[in-house]
Amino acid sequence: MAGANQKRKLRASEVDWLIRQIKKIDRTKMVEQLTEKMVAAQEWFSSLELERPIIISGPCSAESEEQMMETCTQLAATGQVDILRAGIWKPRTRPGSFEGIGSVGLQWLSKAKEETGLKTAVEVANTKHVHEALKNGVDVLWIGARTTVNPFSVQEIADALKGVDIPIMIKNPINADIELWIGAIERIHGAGINRIAAIHRGFAKHGEKKFRNAPQWQIPIELKRRIPDIPMFCDPSHICGNRENLFNISQEAMDLNYDGLMIESHRDPDNAWSDAKQQVVPARIAEMVDGLELRSSKAGNGGSLLEEYREKIDQYDDEILALFAQRMKIADNIGLYKKKNGITILQGKRWDEILNHAIDKGKRAGLSAEFIERYLMAVHQESINHQNEVMNS
Ligand code: PEP
Ligand code: MN
Repeated sequence: MAGANQKRKLRASEVDWLIRQIKKIDRTKMVEQLTEKMVAAQEWFSSLELERPIIISGPCSAESEEQMMETCTQLAATGQVDILRAGIWKPRTRPGSFEGIGSVGLQWLSKAKEETGLKTAVEVANTKHVHEALKNGVDVLWIGARTTVNPFSVQEIADALKGVDIPIMIKNPINADIELWIGAIERIHGAGINRIAAIHRGFAKHGEKKFRNAPQWQIPIELKRRIPDIPMFCDPSHICGNRENLFNISQEAMDLNYDGLMIESHRDPDNAWSDAKQQVVPARIAEMVDGLELRSSKAGNGGSLLEEYREKIDQYDDEILALFAQRMKIADNIGLYKKKNGITILQGKRWDEILNHAIDKGKRAGLSAEFIERYLMAVHQESINHQNEVMNS
């Protein structure tokens, strides 16, 4: 018995220690500090003095010196590109495809920088990449989606960056987990990096057909809510996976106040060694950038009408919330009824009926089936939670 007590005491003290450690981490302060640093990031990007979004473009992968020089000089000639990108080490989903040309590509990128006067950016995924990129004078580093998902890798990169002053762009993780994205930003910030930007490149979604990585605009919107000053970029290439939707996604990003775009380009896209379907020729980049409608993020003179609309939206949102509360009260009653009568919470047929009915009705009201499905699933889950609470308390 004494041994058991001893064991319990030990565990309690361990828990105390853990709580003390956790309390030491002041998350609010961390985000506040992060926000201050973002001002530096904004300043750097605005020092580029652009009246349009910052455009980063270049091949998915560096393939040869000729391909790099030709693509990059064509991009520079458009006058619409600010930073040249090239993948040097390629994280591929399956082995056996081209996995990047490696460090030699950095020399080509450096030559392109010399010839065009443009800044350069590459993806880094480990310590070696960081050192090689810095040695070759790369101006901006970015962390890819497959790396952001892995805190070990992000920390490794952060450690390699200690004492280095270079802008870092952090793509969203492959899965729709905002905490992982913020965690990566915090790790890089923790290494003393002030100039951090985020890139929305879409999220992997099972069953998705239209996009290679579905944009989930609400996630970067939430990121901006939590870290208001972080510069936000969009990568339409990896969102779309094709050329057809690139412009529309770029425009959508502009309408959501994004600071810039990263779009892949290639002198001969059809014969690119990676991501051939989504790359475009440099001239098309210029055409797309030219075609973007840039709207003001300020309400301007139309402010009062906008205010009126916003008041209406707020009013509807309040009404919807009140209705949800009423709906959940009914769910509580249903829970009680089911408890009394020994009926399970989930009635598959009924759920099917609700869903089909709402999708049908929603369609006629101009609401997409995807929205109705997502909305009803959330409502249904909340209903189940309420019933569960009532039945099992
Ligand atoms: C890339 O930019 O070439 C790339 C690999 O992108 P992502 O990390 O978004 O997949
Ligand atoms: Mn690519």
